[in-house]
Amino acid sequence: MKLLDDLYFYPWESMAENNCNSYVIGGALPTLIDPGHHHLFPKLSEAMAADGFQPKDIKLIIATHAHPDHFEAIQNFLDLETRISLHPEAERFIEEHGEHFFRVLGMNLPPYRVDFHLVEGELEVGEHRLRVIHTPGHAPGSICIYWSEVKALFAGDVIFSQSLGRTDLPGGNSALLKETIDRLASLEVSLLLPGHGPVVQGKGEVKRNFHLVRTMFYGMI
Ligand SMILES: [Zn+2]
Repeated sequence: MKLLDDLYFYPWESMAENNCNSYVIGGALPTLIDPGHHHLFPKLSEAMAADGFQPKDIKLIIATHAHPDHFEAIQNFLDLETRISLHPEAERFIEEHGEHFFRVLGMNLPPYRVDFHLVEGELEVGEHRLRVIHTPGHAPGSICIYWSEVKALFAGDVIFSQSLGRTDLPGGNSALLKETIDRLASLEVSLLLPGHGPVVQGKGEVKRNFHLVRTMFYGMI
């Protein structure tokens, strides 16, 4: 589903199963943010095809973090020329704890590959300039992506519409999550693109959402 020029949104809307939202940034270097669960990848693939993207067209994958519901389907790109990227701390976490972590969640650590690391700073994808922001708290090596050209924030599992990321999984840290959200709240965002649930549209709505999350949930985590 096209949200803006060169921005495609693939919401996960089923209540029967959990999966993440996925996003594609189009242009000269089509980039997929969070491919989701492996067994649900055919649904994403079908939705992307309706917008003209085959998996082989995806030149870059950005994983906002290495939780299975965001990361597992990376295995569908291992035989393609797609480059796969995530934060070094997210890679270290799955190297050191991935097998145990996935097993606790009832899954096996999937085959994966990391072609390069994303650290805080600028990232050019084709003609688009993005900013990688290290956003710890929900998961080790969590990152958000800020696209200043359209004032959009790909928020992963840091902040959602009227909610925030859980911190009870291994590597979660509620104090760090609050610091992260406080930091994100200072960005000028008119499109909040979370890893689950609906997008938040409009500068005022995004501001209200940050305010609501900080006042409603900070005392609870
Ligand atoms: Zn997560």
